[in-house]
Amino acid sequence: SDTKSAAGQDVDTAAVRKLDSAHFIHPFTDHAALADKGARVMVRGEGVYLWDSDGNKIMDGMSGLWCVNVGYGRTSISQAVYRQMETLPFYNSFFNTTNLPAVQLATLLADLAPPSFKHVFFTSSGSEANDTNVRMVRRYWDLLGYKDRHTIIGRINGYHGSTVAGAALGGMSGMHAQGGMIPGVAHIGQPNYAESGRGMTEAEFGIVAAGWLEEKILELGPEKVAAFIGEPVQGAGGVIIPPSTYWPEIQRICDKYEILLIADEVITGFGRLGAMFGSELMQIKPDLITFAKGVTSGYVPLGGVLVGSRVASVLIDKGGDFNHGFTYSGHPVSCAAALENLRIIQDEKLVSAVAVDTGPYLRQAFCALASHPLVSHPDACGFVAGLNLVKKKADAVYDCEPFGSDDGVGMICRGHMFNNGIIMRAVGDRMIIAPPLVMTKVQIDEMVGRIRDALDATLADLRQRGLF
Ligand code: PMP
Repeated sequence: SDTKSAAGQDVDTAAVRKLDSAHFIHPFTDHAALADKGARVMVRGEGVYLWDSDGNKIMDGMSGLWCVNVGYGRTSISQAVYRQMETLPFYNSFFNTTNLPAVQLATLLADLAPPSFKHVFFTSSGSEANDTNVRMVRRYWDLLGYKDRHTIIGRINGYHGSTVAGAALGGMSGMHAQGGMIPGVAHIGQPNYAESGRGMTEAEFGIVAAGWLEEKILELGPEKVAAFIGEPVQGAGGVIIPPSTYWPEIQRICDKYEILLIADEVITGFGRLGAMFGSELMQIKPDLITFAKGVTSGYVPLGGVLVGSRVASVLIDKGGDFNHGFTYSGHPVSCAAALENLRIIQDEKLVSAVAVDTGPYLRQAFCALASHPLVSHPDACGFVAGLNLVKKKADAVYDCEPFGSDDGVGMICRGHMFNNGIIMRAVGDRMIIAPPLVMTKVQIDEMVGRIRDALDATLADLRQRGLF
């Protein structure tokens, strides 16, 4: 049955909710509110669909949390994991030891990554990988004798994880306010045309927004700045697709001041934007690439840093001990899962499908939602897309009239999405999707149809509440 547990037992939803509420502290969750409603209990996944314990079949428009790139229910991944667990479930990679899946995966990643990347440092998550970046870039500059060159510049509303350093690199004020800040981190504005592009073309705005980096470098002093970090397309911040002029200008500025460029590709890596890495699409040559999520399609935890030749030649070739590492760095089971997952991505040609076939199809279907009375300026890049819910539409995105920030329109809409069998995420009043890369055109039509129905339900609801 679709609603049985992995152990084959019927799920008593009310009992699970009670235990969940009594014992499980969820990430980024208001527990009083959750206790009132009770958590949705997910029990099964197959392809692009999920089933909850009440038997509802739901289309997963978010790939879990931007990660299930190859879809649910891939038995070849579970078999690879099982075989590895039977053979060698764990051994560490400290003390001059290694393991076969980790070596094979490092080799494959060196092959898939842009040309200057021949080395990888493994972690269990994107957050740990960005912590690694902080220590790695500071170590790099220390080794070169620039001991003051420790500040890393990130962006307001960027997301780089939830460890202390990850939260600090990110630009989420709510996280900074709760202990998520460290010395030696600064932030610039995000390239959000809707928010800050008034009076400019997108191309002009891209140059202006990149220029904020140069201003910040000059304010801090170039001799203090170690690196700049950014997501090629901001994910958790609301699928903010930058103008095409933005990243090349960022690259130019980093080159000018010899500042390391870190591309956080935790979401954009492994095909999400229709290129193996988003950096290729944005035409940048980062020095370090953060990855996680899509490397295993989330089946088991794995993340890491791809280390380009500029850093590798200092840190690895002549650096001595780098006093950094995790018990699970190069975990054999995670690496075995990644090897099989990446084989699927390559053999099924999912990256080129997103680039030239299903990606453009998704974009066209999704952008047709612009005709809906609530929707302004839907946009997509590969298999991420977003639209704004607005009170009043206008030609220019920055002229649209927003709903009140206390009205909670995005959350209202998210509820209607769930009720219409589609998972969409709300970031304020921006609704976003990042579906599994295996989604077919027929399924894209189904998804966009469900979104349209849910938008209609949202509109009726907002009218009833007097908000529209
Ligand atoms: N970087 C980016 C761009 C992310 O989107 C995320 C997670 N959403 C992270 C880092 C953190 O990854 P994790 O949750 O695996 O620690």
